[in-house]
Amino acid sequence: MWRSIISFLFFSVALCQPFLFQKRSSNISDFISFNASLPNVTIFAMGGTIAGYASSSTETVDYAAGSVGIATLVDAVPAIKNFSNIRGVQVTNVGSEELTPANVLNLTQLILAEVAKPDVHGIVVTHGTDSLEETAMFLDMTVNTTKPIVVVGAMRPSTAISADGPMNLLNAVVVAASNRSIGRGTMILLNDRIGSAFYTTKTNGNMLDTFKSYEAGFLGMILDQRPHFFYSPATPTGKVHFDVSNTTELPAVEILYGYQGLNPNLAKAAVDLGAKGLVLAGMGAASWTDPGNEVIDGLISNQSIPVVYSHRTMDGFSDYYYNGIPSYFQNPQKARYMLMLSINAGYSIQNITDIFSLEY
Ligand code: GLU
Repeated sequence: MWRSIISFLFFSVALCQPFLFQKRSSNISDFISFNASLPNVTIFAMGGTIAGYASSSTETVDYAAGSVGIATLVDAVPAIKNFSNIRGVQVTNVGSEELTPANVLNLTQLILAEVAKPDVHGIVVTHGTDSLEETAMFLDMTVNTTKPIVVVGAMRPSTAISADGPMNLLNAVVVAASNRSIGRGTMILLNDRIGSAFYTTKTNGNMLDTFKSYEAGFLGMILDQRPHFFYSPATPTGKVHFDVSNTTELPAVEILYGYQGLNPNLAKAAVDLGAKGLVLAGMGAASWTDPGNEVIDGLISNQSIPVVYSHRTMDGFSDYYYNGIPSYFQNPQKARYMLMLSINAGYSIQNITDIFSLEY
């Protein structure tokens, strides 16, 4: 009762000020529909194919990602208004390959402020799929909340026949607005499936069913705008939290790829170029070559550079490797953000090893 009254007053005031919000920033639109009985969901829009535009409805490859604004995306799915009140915030509008750690840090700080508002039930982030899992993992490690955070994308541009974005967006809002979604960390939603940000990865560059979590499985699915979760809320083993509320810049961490005859000195070059840590996308479970390991050992012992051994295979478990830090289940792109956050927190190589090994 009191919650409804307070939320009515709050959002009525907000609704009376659309012009004010527009004047303050053309990127921000306030709750565009309001019904006191519905939960409030904030959508942060980053761009990607879900906001992609092509001049032909049959074009699904050659299109401009990050072209359509959040208000247009929401307008295209009127059913959203049956599930929640929406506030849309356009943070960036680019292909996700253009996003930087600074963009992701900025998004995180916006979300931290948003989830602190008592009347916000959940968060949706619209995002390009190419680096979606990186942002989702970062949010999972930095936004310490039981409120649902759902990162959503699309594989077909908004102008395509059978565009998947509108249904994905509707489903993401449904999940963010549902009480069943509380306490499940950051989730990734595409193609009617709900995955944990900790485990889900993009597995195919073109197909609609690209996001998978083969080993850990999905958290749930959506049918007729009803989220069905397979298990009660749980936290992934080894999930850590990092406080970035006062962080202004993240340390540089580079990823090196493993292959037959790899150049051992690329690791040194990366450090000379400013890397404060390295992640290796090793062969198999994390193999690096003998000459490569020699260089890595030197960087660890002489320059105290933390080096995480991960795997170029999609799944697998990287155990102890030489003097490096095993990534355990984390793929290189997720391990990179974990290492950046660990270095940012001032942790020693031993501390970082302990953090990664929490997964095991
Ligand atoms: N490369 C673009 C991006 O990641 C388009 C891919 C997509 O969103 O599916 O934003």
